Amino acid sequence: MNDFPARAVVDLGALRGNVRTLASLAPTAQVMAVVKADAYGHGLVPSALAALEGGATWLGTAQVSEALHLRRAGVTGARILTWLYAPGAPLRESVEADVDLSVASRWALDDVVAAARAAGRTARVHLKIDTGLGRNGLLPAQLPDVLAAALAAEAEGLVRVVGVWSHLAFADAPDHAVVGRQAAVFTDAVAAVEAAGARLEVRHLANSAATLTAPALHWDLVRPGIAVYGLTPVPQLGGPERFGLVPAMTFEAELATVKAVPAGSGVSYGHEYVVPQDTVLGVVPLGYADGIPRHASGTADRWGGPVQVGGRRLGIAGRVCMDQVVLDLGPGASDVAGDRVVLWGDGRDGGPTAQDWAEVAGTISYELVARLGARVPRVYV
Ligand code: PLP
Repeated sequence: MNDFPARAVVDLGALRGNVRTLASLAPTAQVMAVVKADAYGHGLVPSALAALEGGATWLGTAQVSEALHLRRAGVTGARILTWLYAPGAPLRESVEADVDLSVASRWALDDVVAAARAAGRTARVHLKIDTGLGRNGLLPAQLPDVLAAALAAEAEGLVRVVGVWSHLAFADAPDHAVVGRQAAVFTDAVAAVEAAGARLEVRHLANSAATLTAPALHWDLVRPGIAVYGLTPVPQLGGPERFGLVPAMTFEAELATVKAVPAGSGVSYGHEYVVPQDTVLGVVPLGYADGIPRHASGTADRWGGPVQVGGRRLGIAGRVCMDQVVLDLGPGASDVAGDRVVLWGDGRDGGPTAQDWAEVAGTISYELVARLGARVPRVYV
């Protein structure tokens, strides 16, 4: 029995519905649900299965180990692409497990070819182009050499170049000029690969933001991550409801301690909050070890904070600690230990969302869900 007094409740029905919504927004493309980083904190295998039930035909992981984990867990009916590995990664196992591999450099291609030779199977590869993100990927100038080597390996039956892909730098600003420049570089790279004779299955560029706002960038497959979980990459354009998405995760806890204290009492390390009047404090048994951002410290006096208790929205009194945060429940508060606290959820009925926390802590909703602590139990409904 897990006695941890908090949990992340993941609504798999919401997740399925989000994928259905994304698929309907990109009717000419397949959907790859990005489930890297433990499905953005939601739990890899249950989330992947729900995404497939919602209509995704591909899964995307950053790490090879995540892709292999999915296969070992029995996720066999879907294509899986994995894209971030260093020399020495278990590529032979990946080829044997029928996992598609991204190739972002010459050494990677050489390692994939060696893995395919060792496995006695053809490896499916997607050439990753750095169209302007300045991260992993082949610069356009590097493409001819790697493409020629890949097609030579294809002639030997060792690889099949099935995809060309890239990733956008301005997820949160779909109208930015760099998006257009990246799209043009991508179009040129696709044309070069096709002209060299590759028979591509999928050309893919769109993350959640582009899936939601830029149909021209959908190509053959869209790769939403954050939107699968019901959070929006473009909060400035509106909340999830604007796109028909529902946040899948509710992060909740029980109050561990409730006590009355006199005016002038200091709260938490450094006494950065001193109660202005006789009041009641409540302790939430979650801290930065669980993913509560320390930058959310000292928000007790802000209107409508990110924590919901008994229908009220409160901020955090004083500093966020490793395992706990304190709330100023207000003079005469009638809350008791065991009462439910909602950190974030779907935002209906005025409840807080991960986006509210992102604003309070100066970050993005992605970071909040992905950094949810390992000790927080995930519960599926
Ligand atoms: N594709 C790649 C290569 C990624 O790294 C990510 C996540 O960062 C995604 C797609 C999904 O992005 P988003 O969560 O913004 O939809």
